[in-house]
Amino acid sequence: MSSEFHETDDAVAAAPEGAWERVAEIDLSAIRHNVRRIKELVAPASVMAVVKADAYGHGAERVARVAVDAGAAWLGTAHVSEALALRAVGIDAPMLAWLHTSGTDFTAAINAGVDLGASGWELERIAAAAQEAAQPARVHLKIDTGLGRNGATADRWEQVLDTAMAYQDDGLLRVVGVWTHLAVADEPDRPETDQQLEAFRAAVALAENAGFDVEQRHAANTPALLSRPDAHFDMVRLGLGAYGLSPFEDQSPEDLGLRPAMTLKTRIANAKRVQSGQGVSYGLRYRTLEETTLGLVPLGYGDGIPRIAVEGPVQIGGQRMLSRGRIAMDQFVVDAGPETDPEALLDREVVVFGRGGPSVDEWAAAAGTINYEIVTRISGRVPRTYIEGSWGEASDE
Ligand SMILES: *Cc1c(COP(=O)(O)O)cnc(C)c1O
Repeated sequence: MSSEFHETDDAVAAAPEGAWERVAEIDLSAIRHNVRRIKELVAPASVMAVVKADAYGHGAERVARVAVDAGAAWLGTAHVSEALALRAVGIDAPMLAWLHTSGTDFTAAINAGVDLGASGWELERIAAAAQEAAQPARVHLKIDTGLGRNGATADRWEQVLDTAMAYQDDGLLRVVGVWTHLAVADEPDRPETDQQLEAFRAAVALAENAGFDVEQRHAANTPALLSRPDAHFDMVRLGLGAYGLSPFEDQSPEDLGLRPAMTLKTRIANAKRVQSGQGVSYGLRYRTLEETTLGLVPLGYGDGIPRIAVEGPVQIGGQRMLSRGRIAMDQFVVDAGPETDPEALLDREVVVFGRGGPSVDEWAAAAGTINYEIVTRISGRVPRTYIEGSWGEASDE
């Protein structure tokens, strides 16, 4: 995602009052509840709310404020530019950004008090940036304990520690954290998490033996913080769970005490009677089996509905309907059945997922993907609106 999405307020338009065409409604009380619940679960470890990718599509600024308000001690982003955008709107919580390139503005990050994840190669650039900023960088050294993405391998770890210590001795940086990322925590029965945590503890021990005062050891994402108390360490990095979604195939958000925060809604944009055999959408991959009523849902892949989805569910009043034929850029079609009067269908509210409708997980299944992707893809074309308390105070414990 480009940084422009985070640097201006109007990349994601605010939903107008009153009449609306399509909206992703974000329940801030659900996010508040989820962060509080996880905070209690992991105490005394602290919570970093991960708000990368515009807070998984929920809106980074609003989510960051609510998460901090609910007790998240830290905020996490992938890109420095995402962290800087939050600083620019006055959010001053501790922040960590961890995915860099040679184009990353480390000087701006240091000036803005953004902590930097580092795997090795970044240290030289971070040190140069610290010189320019005339203050030390705060660094979290990352060990690759098996995921094979970012982080130093165990082979290189001591060399990275040596390099970091030399810069630390020069006053150019301070190592405040050691961290890793887990590969299979969403499948708690797999043995690799044990191996990763063992490798992590060894890497932390090496850093401490080298003389670093490691304040923040962190390893757990949402699946690990839920299933592995031994992965909590000093801090957990909470992404998906803050948005009320479950990382486990066999457990719903409700099972985990979490509340989904995003509801995607629109209105039927056209409805009509068609004959049996009517083809539907590009490629005519669906044909009606009888005379029936079709409804047009004005959301498509331009809005982040995956084109690959087959039979994606929607809720219209008391009725569950399925997308039929291809999802197009702007729209898809539901077959409302022969009993439905097209005049009654036109302009009806359609819940694609969320409160009063199908789950994000059902859409993930329809598209052969995971719930993370469904919410994160909802594009800037869909206005976000923010509500409070739709889950009712009574259910708030
Ligand atoms: C995205 C991300 C997280 C959050 O993961 P969830 O499973 O959404 O909680 C944590 N750590 C890192 C390094 C990430 O990239």
